[in-house]
Amino acid sequence: MSTILALVEHDAGVPRKVSLQVLAAARALADDVHAVAFGPGAADAAAALGAHGATTLHTFDDAAVTSYATGPHAVALAAALDASGAGVLLYPADPFLTDIVARTAVRRGAGVITDAVDLTVADDGLVATKAIFGGDMLSQCRVRDGHQAFVGIKANAFAAADDADGEPAAVSSLAVTLSDEDRRIEILDVVEQESGDRPEMTEASIIAAGGRGLGDAEGFQLIERLADTLGGAVGASRAATDAGWYPHQHQIGQTGKTVAPQLYIGSGISGAIQHRAGMQTSQLIAAINTDPDAPIFSIADFGVVGDLHKVVPALIDEIERRSE
Ligand SMILES: Cc1cc2nc3c(=O)[nH]c(=O)nc-3n(C[C@H](O)[C@H](O)[C@H](O)COP(=O)(O)OP(=O)(O)OC[C@H]3O[C@@H](n4cnc5c(N)ncnc54)[C@H](O)[C@@H]3O)c2cc1C
Repeated sequence: MSTILALVEHDAGVPRKVSLQVLAAARALADDVHAVAFGPGAADAAAALGAHGATTLHTFDDAAVTSYATGPHAVALAAALDASGAGVLLYPADPFLTDIVARTAVRRGAGVITDAVDLTVADDGLVATKAIFGGDMLSQCRVRDGHQAFVGIKANAFAAADDADGEPAAVSSLAVTLSDEDRRIEILDVVEQESGDRPEMTEASIIAAGGRGLGDAEGFQLIERLADTLGGAVGASRAATDAGWYPHQHQIGQTGKTVAPQLYIGSGISGAIQHRAGMQTSQLIAAINTDPDAPIFSIADFGVVGDLHKVVPALIDEIERRSE
């Protein structure tokens, strides 16, 4: 495969972890990988993206792409596809980027495959594997020849390259003229969700997660203390988020986020298949549950059969004692 374009997300020029995973997926398939990044500071990502295999970084930092209006992003993405000559676009499968990509796909008549967990090149083109039914089955999808393929990569499905030693990517500013039609959506207000000092879940290397076994919303104070003791993020099962005990954006699983931290600690979570679909690739899984037959123990590296209200405080005390 000649050139793949990777759409990357960054925070003021620092690529997000999932963007580096997308680059790793692209690099495994293509002779040449271009990246495209939007917004202020995009060009500052050139060194990190180059180190992870991108040869060229296409940027567009017009004021129109500082808001969440997706129209201008879609126009710029189409320009990046033209500039790179790529037939395949890979992108992190989050809702915002999926919106941009879908708009570009309609303009181009391209095929879109979402939430891929694996990619292979067959004689008749790129084949993307998707996990379906909570990870119980795999489906394989291909965009028919003659169409560009836009493939959303599920967070943490690929590992970012360890050997990040490439040269900085050459920065190329996209020449894009936006029409009034492209700018017709105006974002009137943006309300930032308070996330405190904790890391974002999909970027975190440690996650403390809680479920229905916590008993009520206040139970999450214990999970937050555990997360803070370890410098981690807080996750939740759907039972907990549906009950209103914790915000939905912290939900892990099939209909929540996919995480793959170095350490996942689940307290009062049974380990239903839909929850496991979002965390089973964690490097080390620890579970605390009163039920020795809870399904989570079948995938746990460490398990404690016991009441979380006793086990978690004791765990926090021990971690604090050892870190003194
Ligand atoms: C289409 C679909 C999509 C779904 N998507 C998701 C998803 O994305 N994420 C998700 O999480 N779920 C999802 N679910 C729901 C999923 O099937 C389960 O219902 C849910 O994960 C259960 O959450 P839980 O483990 O917190 O609760 P439960 O299954 O009720 O488990 C609670 C656990 O806590 C233990 N416990 C109780 N008291 C204590 C105590 N004091 N100390 C220690 N342990 C205790 C119990 O033994 C039990 O194992 C989905 C379901 C469907 C149908």
